[in-house]
Amino acid sequence: MEYYSGDINKLIDELAALPGIGSKSAQRMAFHIINLPHDRVKRLSEAIITAKETAKYCKCCQTLTDKDICNICDNPKRNHKMIMVVENPRDLIAYEKTGKYDGVYHVLHGAISPMNGIGPSDIRLKELIERLKGDVEELIIATNSNLEGETTAMYISKLVKPAGIKVTRIASGVPVGGDLEYIDEVTLLRAFEGRTEI
Ligand code: ZN
Repeated sequence: MEYYSGDINKLIDELAALPGIGSKSAQRMAFHIINLPHDRVKRLSEAIITAKETAKYCKCCQTLTDKDICNICDNPKRNHKMIMVVENPRDLIAYEKTGKYDGVYHVLHGAISPMNGIGPSDIRLKELIERLKGDVEELIIATNSNLEGETTAMYISKLVKPAGIKVTRIASGVPVGGDLEYIDEVTLLRAFEGRTEI
């Protein structure tokens, strides 16, 4: 049953289709938007469109950026011989927030999950292997500590080890099944410092 007019319903439906937004939150957000001054709504909708149009994946680490090469990959002060492999850009941000990691990253955009039909060719592994042809000393695998993350870590380790590159895995300070992005910085740092060779 439709309680609101067509246009308001359309807005609520679009918001409710976003991740983590239930129908109650969608209604609350829709009313909030409708009550905002016109220029604020314009800024919001323009920000959505502009970000969508300019967003691309860094040619090197595959994170989301609006440049060909992201600021981290482009920074000569970072240690380009150390690559931390994460599942998504949010995990990269989590490590960046610690301010203690000076290497670079590689974003897989997912993890291997045979149960969900996601294989090695469905994530950005090919691009990682390509990067390893350069001068790389250590690959730190910081995928999540759930089944998919562990499967991915083992797969990469087996793939990369013959090339003589040191492969480490972040320590289990990260709770099992935990998403990196929800973990506090101290725990993240401990996991990083306690990494072990696999
Ligand atoms: Zn990059």
